[in-house]
Amino acid sequence: MKFIVKPRNRYIEVIAQGKEGVVIFPTYVPGSYVIRELERNVVEIEGFRITKNKFYVKENFKYLVYASSRDQREAISTNDYLFINPPAVFPFQNIYEKYCVKIETNWKVATTLQEENGYYCADNYHEFADSPIEASPELKVLQVDEGHYVSTIDDVDLAMLGKIVSEADKVIQPKDKYIFHFRRSDRNFGGIEHKKSTGIVVSWDKKDLSILFAHEYFHRLNVKKLVPKDLNHNYETEVYTDLLWFAEGFTDYMAHLICLRAGLNTPEEIFRRILQSLHNLTFPGAKRVSLSEASKTAWIKYYKQDENFLNASISYYDGGLALGFYVDLRLAERGNRIDELFKTLPERYTFRDVEKTLERLGFHELELANKPAYQIVEAIGRIIDLQFVDKGKKYYGLSLDNQRVKFVEENSPADLAGLMPEDQIVGVDGISKPLEVKDYVKLHVIREGRLKQIELRAGENPGHSLKGKIEGEHARKILSRDVVEAVYNSVII
Ligand SMILES: [Zn+2]
Repeated sequence: MKFIVKPRNRYIEVIAQGKEGVVIFPTYVPGSYVIRELERNVVEIEGFRITKNKFYVKENFKYLVYASSRDQREAISTNDYLFINPPAVFPFQNIYEKYCVKIETNWKVATTLQEENGYYCADNYHEFADSPIEASPELKVLQVDEGHYVSTIDDVDLAMLGKIVSEADKVIQPKDKYIFHFRRSDRNFGGIEHKKSTGIVVSWDKKDLSILFAHEYFHRLNVKKLVPKDLNHNYETEVYTDLLWFAEGFTDYMAHLICLRAGLNTPEEIFRRILQSLHNLTFPGAKRVSLSEASKTAWIKYYKQDENFLNASISYYDGGLALGFYVDLRLAERGNRIDELFKTLPERYTFRDVEKTLERLGFHELELANKPAYQIVEAIGRIIDLQFVDKGKKYYGLSLDNQRVKFVEENSPADLAGLMPEDQIVGVDGISKPLEVKDYVKLHVIREGRLKQIELRAGENPGHSLKGKIEGEHARKILSRDVVEAVYNSVII
């Protein structure tokens, strides 16, 4: 198919050419496991509507797409800026035919699509959909080093990026050109990986970008070159894999290692972030759910997180990072490192492939990915010094945001006393003051506009805040120090 794009404020006009027949607009973006209903942005189309995202069209047809999303997974068009993640704007017919787009503007354009006679092209829809297009009169395309570029209307620390890519490329060993599409916004949208680029949009106050950049860049290998065998995107319905903990969590662990090796983060910072992930695996969800299970529920749980998430499930990012750390600790004991896994894993892999590759390197406990995730914390605690510093101390089992209850741990004193997420605490022992932990308090809360009185008795904390110490061969091999200590304090009181 061929498209000619005419950007205008908040809308993108498209003149399309294909075959007479059905066109399909994607409902989601690969790499982001949520049905976004991107087709909702089609506001006009020359064609006959069949379903929410399918139309019968003639060979040539026009359509109009509303484009004002600041999320780099979607598209935005303003009078001086254009960003298109292709699934948000372009439909497909046959995935395995050539797709080309022409941008009718004299602005500077950055994309990893191939330039051909004024068009930007890809051999099939998978490649096309995976290649964002950014344009602006103010666009700067900055060179990081041979083969790596940043496309941005803002500023970026090129020296930091240079260190990340040179460390990461020791494992990735890339060939093609790569673009970091980077923009500041009023919110943190994070990043999304593509085969030859990434889209990163973060708020102005986000200073430490190294791990985010390293994470998205490492996806170039892990999930774009090495892909779970069952992750076959169809752009319309959910696809399932039990390996997102590997695709995301191991990528995150590698991002931490890359930033450490590049000197961008200290061993203490890295170790504290690992403790943070372990902390997130100390809630009831981690006693129920394995990493594999959490991967399969990405669409309905991780991407649809509610106030009960930590009781019901786990993040496969946290779980995968923890397991990656455990694998690396074990491999380090045998003179190996986790890097070797990425050099020898088959390109389309199954769980068994990861398991076999790790067994060859000397790790024999991948079954942990199929057990409740808390067991990974216990396994790590058997080989490094991990202490729950709040274990047995007085606690209620809740977290607060401006005296509004955010989270209630299952079976905690707060749960047994009848507190609910969203309860607004307005009185503590008859006084308007912040809640503090003590044996007994009488609370006044507002729930659905009604004033309620709740008696809350502190109980024993099962242990969430972590103090860790890593030393000896483990510390030297992984964190390049003799001893590293760190603490992660939970917000649960
Ligand atoms: Zn990721």
